Amino acid sequence: MEVLKITPRGYCHGVVDAIRIAKHVGEESAEPVHMLGLLVHNTHVTDEMQTHGVRLVDAPDRIAGLDQIKSGTVIFTAHGVSPAVKAKAAAMGLRAVDATCSDVIRTHDLIDRLVADGYEVVYIGLRGHPEPEGAIGHGPGRVHLVQEAADIDSLQITSAKVAVTCQTTLSVWDTDELIDKVRARYPQVEVHNEICRATQERQEAAVEAAREVDLVIVVGSSRSSNSKRLVEVVEKRAGKPAHLIDTLEEIRPEWFRGVKRVGVTSGASTPSQLTRKVIEYLQGMEPPA
Ligand code: SF4
Repeated sequence: MEVLKITPRGYCHGVVDAIRIAKHVGEESAEPVHMLGLLVHNTHVTDEMQTHGVRLVDAPDRIAGLDQIKSGTVIFTAHGVSPAVKAKAAAMGLRAVDATCSDVIRTHDLIDRLVADGYEVVYIGLRGHPEPEGAIGHGPGRVHLVQEAADIDSLQITSAKVAVTCQTTLSVWDTDELIDKVRARYPQVEVHNEICRATQERQEAAVEAAREVDLVIVVGSSRSSNSKRLVEVVEKRAGKPAHLIDTLEEIRPEWFRGVKRVGVTSGASTPSQLTRKVIEYLQGMEPPA
């Protein structure tokens, strides 16, 4: 089958840095080393980290996760943590290593500034994802999480100073629509779109390439926000079918009935060797009649 390799795809700078930091700490430390949640949202990567001596603590939230660590080092993941998590780790006497992506740190700094300047901050993000958890913790009670239009209708902000910002890995287009909705409710709102460049470039490339293929395969984990958004934007913006797969075994032959050309992309936390295997498999595949 003909395969269009969509670029850019795969690892972003934040993931590369987090992996490098965690590997180094895992190998040089004599004490136990823990990642507080999945270092990046890809199980192939986190399994590999465990072979480098970094144990996984996967709790419902970061504060609860700390309770599972008795001593040694804690690595804060690429998604970032709240100041409360950092304070608790310090109070427990743990050595903290911060692998937060620099783009997420920029959003934290922005929220700190806005809150100090008296703003109420509307934060567009996904409930239950660690990145909003960390970001909201930078202004408890002053940062309001919204995930969909109905959440914006329910906001009860009366302050004259309102700002809107967002998680780094959302859909570019859906976020623009939600920002417009916030602006319609609060015309004075100050807008800070924090979708990172890696997310934006991968989404734009996937939508553009999708117009030239019959189907898009996204290699990535179901826990990865940016991978799931790639599937969504291909379906919604290019009107083409797309499937998320984490392993070769998840590929289903019936997806390819009548398909002549398939596009392949991958999330920002997907190892390139995995994507390469998928591309080679699809190149050797005969689509079912
Ligand atoms: Fe950083 Fe963006 Fe990569 Fe997340 S997707 S780690 S914010 S560069």
